[in-house]
Amino acid sequence: MDNTCDICHRHAPAGCYLCDGCAYRMHTWLREIPRHLPLLQDLLRPDTGPAQRGGSGRAHSPLPVRVEVLDLLGPGHVVPLADPHGDQCADVPLAPLLYGWARYLAAELPSVWRDEHGTVRIEPCTGPVARGGSSITAWCSWLDAYLPYAVTRPWSADLYEQLEAVLRRIRRITHTRPRRRLMDAPCSASDCQAFALVEKEDELHISCDACGHRLTPDEYAAHRAAVMPALAALALRIGAQQAAAA
Ligand SMILES: [Zn+2]
Ligand SMILES: [Zn+2]
Repeated sequence: MDNTCDICHRHAPAGCYLCDGCAYRMHTWLREIPRHLPLLQDLLRPDTGPAQRGGSGRAHSPLPVRVEVLDLLGPGHVVPLADPHGDQCADVPLAPLLYGWARYLAAELPSVWRDEHGTVRIEPCTGPVARGGSSITAWCSWLDAYLPYAVTRPWSADLYEQLEAVLRRIRRITHTRPRRRLMDAPCSASDCQAFALVEKEDELHISCDACGHRLTPDEYAAHRAAVMPALAALALRIGAQQAAAA
């Protein structure tokens, strides 16, 4: 294998199929998914509102649940249903998706134990066990704990893409997006220097919206410490000149 990330094609650590940035994004997603659950539960039942007389009327009673939320929270198959006629609309719900990946991962993990004669046995795990039960939150924590192993497997990009897709479905329903914070130091790329460095909730790196340049938080801290005193002095000087001219 080469040391290129299967997702973003940047450099990946030795033995890994994903780079640190993409692995970090998966880590934040697995922590974000449980935070959406209370709102998704609330959104499951549509707001029926007061009964209305007359009006345009309906041929059928409205469904008692919102289908796109049920598609996420309901039971279901681990893999999408075969769809030869193109008439399936449901994606894999959250719980089977997460459990399916945990089971897949566990099947590759070696389990080491001693039999009654004291001989060390190494066999594949029989199945994953989440300490917090079998809830969506518990499977998110389980997968998060095993991410360092997952990124060393050739299927890690599939896990990444499926988590990204399910989070996109969730965010579409809950109308949320990752928080962004504009940083105060300008871009450190010498041909850019735009005040466009942004810290994003689900990104390991601080990146420039203008040129795409990336900095780790430590690199940004060092860069900020180097440039901000001069910028602050310049701002003070300009302020003093304006006050003198007024
Ligand atoms: Zn990557
Ligand atoms: Zn830039």
